[in-house]
Amino acid sequence: DEPLLRIDGLRTHFFTNEGVVKAVDGMDLTVPRGKTICVVGESGCGKSITARSVLQLVDRPGRIVGGEVRWRPGTGPATDLARLDPAGEEIRRIRGGEIGMVFQEPMASLSPMYTVGDQLAETLRLHQGLTREQAREKGIDLLRWVGLPRPERIFDSYSFQMSGGMCQRVVIAIALSCDPALLIADEPTTALDVTTQARIIELLKNLQDQNGMAIVFITHDLGVVAEIADDVTVMYLGKVAEHGSVDEIFSNPKHPYTQSLLRSIPTMRSSSGAGRGRLTAIRGMVPHPQNRPSGCPFHTRCDSAIPGTCESTEPPLIQFGGEGHRALCHLYDQSGELRDTSPKPPV
Ligand code: SF4
Ligand code: MG
Repeated sequence: DEPLLRIDGLRTHFFTNEGVVKAVDGMDLTVPRGKTICVVGESGCGKSITARSVLQLVDRPGRIVGGEVRWRPGTGPATDLARLDPAGEEIRRIRGGEIGMVFQEPMASLSPMYTVGDQLAETLRLHQGLTREQAREKGIDLLRWVGLPRPERIFDSYSFQMSGGMCQRVVIAIALSCDPALLIADEPTTALDVTTQARIIELLKNLQDQNGMAIVFITHDLGVVAEIADDVTVMYLGKVAEHGSVDEIFSNPKHPYTQSLLRSIPTMRSSSGAGRGRLTAIRGMVPHPQNRPSGCPFHTRCDSAIPGTCESTEPPLIQFGGEGHRALCHLYDQSGELRDTSPKPPV
């Protein structure tokens, strides 16, 4: 699979008065053309900052301080998005053009000052040079395509006149208006009710089948991951704890963090709906990145932590058989076999 986007060693830090917060610190991610990569992990692991870094949307006091974000690395000299001027022409052409984005709060993505049609048409005219009439026609078609009823009427409506689910469809229509090669969706369904969530997921799958775009889908809902992912990247404190195909991650998870995320699914799916989307089964909380634990950053919460090793030494990157499955963990030797880590009797 030809990669569309390749992130290598990305580091995005925040320079606050209290010190440097290493929100993303050595993140790697490869997105093949037409595939869906899910990025999972609890809140505060750097998922959103990674997405925002790709598009040069990191707010101050945050800054990309290292690594590369190669766009279309397979075709000649690739653009390093991490080096582009955040306010420059080039990133603006890519953002909303070749790469579409959908964020968690659909209402916040739309301006209450302009109609849906104004906002949709602006993107179409900016990126595709359409006339006012052409933009209206194409805009209405897009609203119909994302399953909105009476699209002519919605074209002339304001966001506050619509439900959250309708707004998210509008945001998706805007994101898709330029036929992007990649859609980055950051928890696009988290703010929506369960039925609407399911419809939006279905919509994204259908749209992908039709236009072949790649999707980076950020979520903490592993039910959604099982439904849409080709590959899964598990993030913990700013880097990849484990990566693999969706089958490997669900049937053969190697990293203790991945294993505890998977154990937490029944909690998320409780019948009362309480705690849905919260990964409550994992002991303790994600440490603040400013207080990143030494050694393996997960050692403060890991039931398999090896005393004398995990808290002091960075874990090695282990490759497991097939499909790029890899994890950062002391439990395995270089061939991917479990090491004997039981305490040795004193000699
Ligand atoms: Fe747990 Fe150690 Fe593996 Fe980290 S390196 S996940 S602490 S066993
Ligand atoms: Mg987030």
